[in-house]
Amino acid sequence: MSTSQPTPVRGRFAPSPSGRMHLGNLCCALLAWLSVRSQNGEMLLRIEDLDPDRCTREKAELLMDDLSWLGLTWDEGPGHERTHAPYCQSARRELYESALSELRAKNDVYPCFCTRAELHAVSAPHAGDGTFRYPGLCRNLTPAEAEEKSRTRRPSLRFRAPEDTVTFEDLYCGPQNINVQSTFGDFIVRRSDGVFAYQLAVVVDDAAMGITEIVRGCDLLGSTPRQIYLQHLLELPTPHYAHIPLLMSPDGRRLSKRDRDLDLGELRARFGTPEALLGWLAGQTGIAPDTTPRSAEQLIEHFSWGVIRAHRENITITVE
Ligand code: GLU
Repeated sequence: MSTSQPTPVRGRFAPSPSGRMHLGNLCCALLAWLSVRSQNGEMLLRIEDLDPDRCTREKAELLMDDLSWLGLTWDEGPGHERTHAPYCQSARRELYESALSELRAKNDVYPCFCTRAELHAVSAPHAGDGTFRYPGLCRNLTPAEAEEKSRTRRPSLRFRAPEDTVTFEDLYCGPQNINVQSTFGDFIVRRSDGVFAYQLAVVVDDAAMGITEIVRGCDLLGSTPRQIYLQHLLELPTPHYAHIPLLMSPDGRRLSKRDRDLDLGELRARFGTPEALLGWLAGQTGIAPDTTPRSAEQLIEHFSWGVIRAHRENITITVE
């Protein structure tokens, strides 16, 4: 009788090189890394550079330099090429194209000609995140109507989201039930300029790269049910998810890559060593009992999701 080996945990960093990493990105990266390392798993780095207007090679280099300085190592990715290369999404478009063909063959996508301005005029953004529920304006266009509209405008492609509720267990937030259609409506899988949307690319890549665990900010919690739908339709496995709270600035705004004051350039200068920065962050977020300087490796023994969940309220830190 043969005994099968358990599949090792595989996590990933999936940064978009649209700006320097900030403290919030660092917190996510640290938790993702600690979760994987504490389970003796493997870490992969994927550069999410699909948007040519926002992402540059220089910013990707800087991201990798910051991760390396922090000691947040990756086993597979740029500089550590293994079986799942290439690791930049801009070089993986054929895979997204073939997933899109599958969805098209099942009649799960349709062309949408709505402009942002038209959508703003008919629907109110969701509280907080500025996204809209797509009201389905192009859902039932006849082929003749679509043909007519395509003479003056290139369409985006939208996924026909079903009415049912997606249920999943989040390692940090607990059980989730989200109805994609009533919350977000049909969502874009390829933009009108031909750029593949995050929702499709991330699903294709996480599966192709054998990712079993995803740790990311709770701003992406609403993306997960959309991704789970796509996984089901494309017959891909669903990884485990943990969505962690976003860090807030002292005036209550969520940190973004536009807040230069808390980017890794500033933080490296301010703290001097990775140990000082990581130790401080670990103490602030409840990963470690205090803010003693500690390397990423030294934090592994302190990490557990149970401890992180117990500090649920404290993980949202403000930075003076
Ligand atoms: N590329 C996304 C970002 O930098 C993260 C995607 C993900 O973790 O699924 O915000």
